[in-house]
Amino acid sequence: MSADRGQEEKRCQGMAAAPGIARGPVHVFSIENDDVVRYHVDSAHIPDEIARFESGLIQTRAQILEMQQQIAEAIGAKDAGIFDAHLLVVEDQTLIDEVLRRLETEHCNVEYAFQEVANRYVESLSKIDDPYLRERALDIQDVSRRVIRNLQGKTPRPFLSIEEPHILIAHNLTPSDTATMNREYVRGFALDLGSQTSHTAIMARSLGIPAVVGLRNATEILETGVPALIDGYHGLLIIHPSEQTLREYEELEREKGALAARLTKLRETKSTTRDGRHVVLSANIELPDEIDSVLANGAEGVGLYRTEFLYLNQPTLPSEEEQFEIYRSVAQRLAPDPLIIRTLDLGGDKISENIESGDELNPFLGWRAIRFCLENIHIFKAQLRAILRASVGANIKIMFPMISGLDEVRRGCEVLEECKQELRCEGRGFDDGLEIGIMIEVPTAAIMADRLAREVDFFSIGTNDLIQYAIAIDRTNERVAHLYEPSHPSVVRLLKMVADAAHANNIWVGVCGEMAGEVLFTPLLLGLGMDELSASATIVPRVKSAVQALTSAECRQLLDEVLELDTPAAILERCTAMAQRHYPELIG
Ligand code: PEP
Ligand code: MG
Repeated sequence: MSADRGQEEKRCQGMAAAPGIARGPVHVFSIENDDVVRYHVDSAHIPDEIARFESGLIQTRAQILEMQQQIAEAIGAKDAGIFDAHLLVVEDQTLIDEVLRRLETEHCNVEYAFQEVANRYVESLSKIDDPYLRERALDIQDVSRRVIRNLQGKTPRPFLSIEEPHILIAHNLTPSDTATMNREYVRGFALDLGSQTSHTAIMARSLGIPAVVGLRNATEILETGVPALIDGYHGLLIIHPSEQTLREYEELEREKGALAARLTKLRETKSTTRDGRHVVLSANIELPDEIDSVLANGAEGVGLYRTEFLYLNQPTLPSEEEQFEIYRSVAQRLAPDPLIIRTLDLGGDKISENIESGDELNPFLGWRAIRFCLENIHIFKAQLRAILRASVGANIKIMFPMISGLDEVRRGCEVLEECKQELRCEGRGFDDGLEIGIMIEVPTAAIMADRLAREVDFFSIGTNDLIQYAIAIDRTNERVAHLYEPSHPSVVRLLKMVADAAHANNIWVGVCGEMAGEVLFTPLLLGLGMDELSASATIVPRVKSAVQALTSAECRQLLDEVLELDTPAAILERCTAMAQRHYPELIG
């Protein structure tokens, strides 16, 4: 990309979500919630749009009927009658015919055609001086939002199909948007919203897509076509980069490339400290394809497989058989190294369109992970059976997410036992000694770690959630991201409680949250006695390099000092000083 001479360079500071540098023209999408983008649909695909429309209407009708029934049960049939008017909207033949006509004549997508028609109805009815008709306009507005949401849930987001290299600028992206990006065309992305531990950011790091988040108004100040550069190391979006800036970034890329080449050479070396203490370094994966990167980066297995991504962006839920095939092939590629499969952690910022969870006000505190699984036993069992079956001749461990106390672990283990029993009756094999672990990511679990440790074979600490729940900071909210501090003294204490409880009960403990891949904290985590660190595959060599530069005694000494400190800033400063002393090239 050459510099845009006529325009002054402008720098926007956000948060670094995924390292790397990307240049190119931007494509701006300011889609928020229900906003609808128009895109062209050729004649051959109009029947698909009509089919989407039909199923969108059916889904909406079913939702309205369900709401009606709930209201009738809660407050009586009379009040539930208000939904009759909503049902009339989805059955309104004139409206439906008008949408179909537009599809045929304008060759546009169905949500756009529907929105246009519905808006025209609303506008005409609101102008009429009649209270009944005005009410009806509100009904149409309400129902059409629901129809559009249902339609949008069924399509890949249109901006993901642009077929030319660009930097994507969006208000927000879901983790599954990121998972389905075409790497050939999306060189990087920058978002108004988001933070470093959102699953969108985690996904970008795993896939190696440079990204900046939390820019707040990038979609407002940018226009499609403008040249820009993303600096995913420092969280910068540079608009109209000057010649000088482009040269500086070429230099930075050369330096980073040289460091990456040095780190790649560590692939075959052990992750041991200078005094010979071995720390297992594993990788986190979201998609089965990432296994190539796990092997290429020399990780000792997978410490966290976020299986919920199998349930996102799919027309139906994955069957037991489909899951079995995937788990088996991933586990066999890794064997004898372990594959730790985390059971479904849907909810929070990972919503499947196949699961009607309703709009939750606080999804991270809501119907998520093990809570969801224990209420949807058939979905849970299909996964557990698939994992068990895949464990034959492989090294699979199983891990339950978001455990908050003993009952959930026990119930999870009971369901697993039921699955084992079923498989025995069916004459199917599985590894009966497969290790069972839990994620420690809810503060109550950390506090109860001494009791929980008696029930399982290992702990893996999910610092992303543990920090969000301990400090009460929404991990996806850019407004409070500066308060999200892994170096908070309370977080350090929680980590210590968990590690000590695990070791007192002779089980191993790892960290699989993003903190495990942050080299500033490697000495602290080693000082705490963590047995395993699991991070995005591409970060593993960097953590290995840090481990190899340290000694156990120095790490323990650091921990003792940190435990005396009272503020996140003081702890961060101490950790940074230690990292700076031992591996300055890995930080900054
Ligand atoms: C965590 O919470 O730290 C974790 C590893 O799980 P996730 O990021 O998927 O919530
Ligand atoms: Mg978590």
